[in-house]
Amino acid sequence: MARKSIRINGIEYIDGQVHLYIVRGQQLKDTTSDQLNFRIYRKQEDNYLQGFDYQEYFDNIDWKEAELIYEGPVERKERFHFVFTDSNVEFLKVYSYWAAYEEDDVPAGPAVVSVRDPRVWWSFSRIQETLKRIYDAYPGEKSMKVYGRSTRKKPLTGLRIGNPEKVVGLIGTVHAGESGPELFLSAMENIVKECPELLDEVGIAVLPSVNADGREDMVLGYPHYVRCNPNQVDLNRNFDASWEEIDYTYGLNTSILGSATYRGPYPGSEDETQAVMSFIDDIRPKVIFDGHCLASICSDCFLTAKSAKDDSAFNDLGKKFCTAYTKGFRDVEKEGIRYVFGCTAGSVPAYAYEKYRIPAFDMEFRPVKDEARERSCINGNTTFDLLDEFIEYHTKGIVHVLELLKEM
Ligand SMILES: [Zn+2]
Repeated sequence: MARKSIRINGIEYIDGQVHLYIVRGQQLKDTTSDQLNFRIYRKQEDNYLQGFDYQEYFDNIDWKEAELIYEGPVERKERFHFVFTDSNVEFLKVYSYWAAYEEDDVPAGPAVVSVRDPRVWWSFSRIQETLKRIYDAYPGEKSMKVYGRSTRKKPLTGLRIGNPEKVVGLIGTVHAGESGPELFLSAMENIVKECPELLDEVGIAVLPSVNADGREDMVLGYPHYVRCNPNQVDLNRNFDASWEEIDYTYGLNTSILGSATYRGPYPGSEDETQAVMSFIDDIRPKVIFDGHCLASICSDCFLTAKSAKDDSAFNDLGKKFCTAYTKGFRDVEKEGIRYVFGCTAGSVPAYAYEKYRIPAFDMEFRPVKDEARERSCINGNTTFDLLDEFIEYHTKGIVHVLELLKEM
């Protein structure tokens, strides 16, 4: 019989442990014990590839191929969940779990977790603490504000330091599984320490993690690449910039709910989109860089609004900013810049161009030194060492942009 006495209410990776949350079904609702006996099965999913595989990968996988890793009592916590913890897990591995109550033949599951390095994927609380630390460390002109709330009502906090008249804007994780807080906040912290005098002349503002809910899901182990917010809206298609144009990039359709590039029910419908609009309107940056690519890193591949293609004065200015940023990554004389009209209707760069004429860029993948190593980000496998290397590139790149802006 397929009926089960329990269900798995969730799974999370926190501080080195996987937590499997089990709740009682109807037939066990009157049990008062603080312990129940469970069998826990686990299978390591080495073929699962983040960014290629989604939920369908785990549909109908067979628990009989899993290993029985525990049999015995599991404690009830907070008078609700029975929590099984597993410390025997490694970074960059994906695990499926099943749980069975003592009399059940068939276990509930699978519940799947991807174990991500918290040094590479910062938690929401770490992002908040880092913003506060930078704010406290910088003695000059500064402001820290909540520009809006995420769908699940997390505060979306932005920080500005330095001269408010000439600001470089940095926006992170418009797409949850991509880049932002780790690169941009680390770079800002480096700049405050290493060249604070530059900030007397020019400023930096950051909205580090726009799709904060999707990002936190990934931090806690949600296995799939997350692009959209909890309403299934691609925030980079939701802005009021030629929004009515349907786009078919990646073979997807922006007008269909369930498509990974769904633009939302109307322009600016999402809370996160509204927060970015408030941030841009308040700061009025001279240039905006958005972290994209994947798994906490991006490089000097600059995508701007398709709608800006014929505006040569705008692009001359944009190329100056991109040339400066590129200097953080490579010898521009030898390798040139990568400047692409790649941003579609509803994107941040299209909105910044169409409403304010601000040059704005989604930063994507471009190999720097060791392409095979750097491409590991595509499947979510960025290591701490790789992130550290990219923080250096971004710190230098942003300093070059600030120096250029100072002269303007
Ligand atoms: Zn993206």
